[in-house]
Amino acid sequence: MTRHFNFCAGPAALPEAVLKKAQYEMLDWQGRGLSVMEMSHRSDDYVAIASQAEKDLRGLLNIPDNYKVLFMQGGASSQFAMVPLNLLGHGGTPNYIETGVWAGKAIKEASRYAEGLHVAGSSKAQGYTCVPAQNELKLTDDAAYLHFTSNETIGGLAFDYLPETDGVPLVCDMSSDILSKPLDVTQYGVIYAGAQKNIGPAGLTLVIIRDDLLDQVMPATPSMMNYRICAENDSMYNTPPTYGWYLAGLVFDWLKNDIGGLEKMAEINTRKANKLYQAIDNSDFYANPIAIANRSQMNVPFTLADAALDKVFLQESEAAGLLNLAGHRSVGGMRASIYNAVPEAAIDALTAFMSDFEKRHG
Ligand SMILES: *Cc1c(COP(=O)(O)O)cnc(C)c1O
Repeated sequence: MTRHFNFCAGPAALPEAVLKKAQYEMLDWQGRGLSVMEMSHRSDDYVAIASQAEKDLRGLLNIPDNYKVLFMQGGASSQFAMVPLNLLGHGGTPNYIETGVWAGKAIKEASRYAEGLHVAGSSKAQGYTCVPAQNELKLTDDAAYLHFTSNETIGGLAFDYLPETDGVPLVCDMSSDILSKPLDVTQYGVIYAGAQKNIGPAGLTLVIIRDDLLDQVMPATPSMMNYRICAENDSMYNTPPTYGWYLAGLVFDWLKNDIGGLEKMAEINTRKANKLYQAIDNSDFYANPIAIANRSQMNVPFTLADAALDKVFLQESEAAGLLNLAGHRSVGGMRASIYNAVPEAAIDALTAFMSDFEKRHG
């Protein structure tokens, strides 16, 4: 068996230690004679697995008691609708910051529920190579919330500051950088993230919400999309994605006990990203268009000096055991996603390959 280095943007690499633990427990979870996948979500064993996962997540992120943690389904894309459905019941204008593909999708979906959605800031004119500065943000007086995307997974663009809103709840799509570094949850009203980048397998979606925001739901909101109903039922209003939740729990445990917490994780992530950006910046052959301050530590897009070499690069990198380096279909070029579970050795292998490729083709 060989496991290659996987730079996939999502579903993404999982820590090998987590996969091994899941493999070990697959047929017989802790001597009970059945797989986690085969357990009732109401059983004592499963409820213990689920609450331990939440407890570990709360520990990692220092989530205060007045925040609910919801384990939902439907991916981050469903949150694009759930956010307005759950937060606009008392009126007000949703405000959004536009920074690329994912923010754009969030805006498009929310527009279906809110006339007069307001784009409070945009870097469209800059081709989404930076984020709008704080002093460029213009919120409406009646803002219900301000939504932003902390890390644009496709563009490789990240916020380097937390938008100041003067009390308006901040809502953040953190799908591709949650758990990559410490986080002050108290600065946010709602945080959401699809699992398949830094949390676990696809199928699970995490929502962290301040509990005073649970009473603003629009009346026609489907029960399955209602944050309050989800919270009141401990995320078990219906059958939750039990296996994904269990696996996320293993990832939280790995972050806590193998890595040693999010400060440590952030240190490793910074070192990984710096190595890769240095390799790009130190060559005339590779390039990254993003403003230095807004470069993502999770997704690193880069182009080759000659796009005609893209195909060769992808063929040769794959043959060298470096998987999934193709850029998003809407962008082209290359993209290395280097989430928490991608080890530093993967970056070393990639930069060595890049340097060798440049020597042979540059
Ligand atoms: C991947 C991603 C999404 C979409 O997630 P799904 O779970 O596929 O709906 C949304 N926002 C960001 C920032 C992402 O990285």
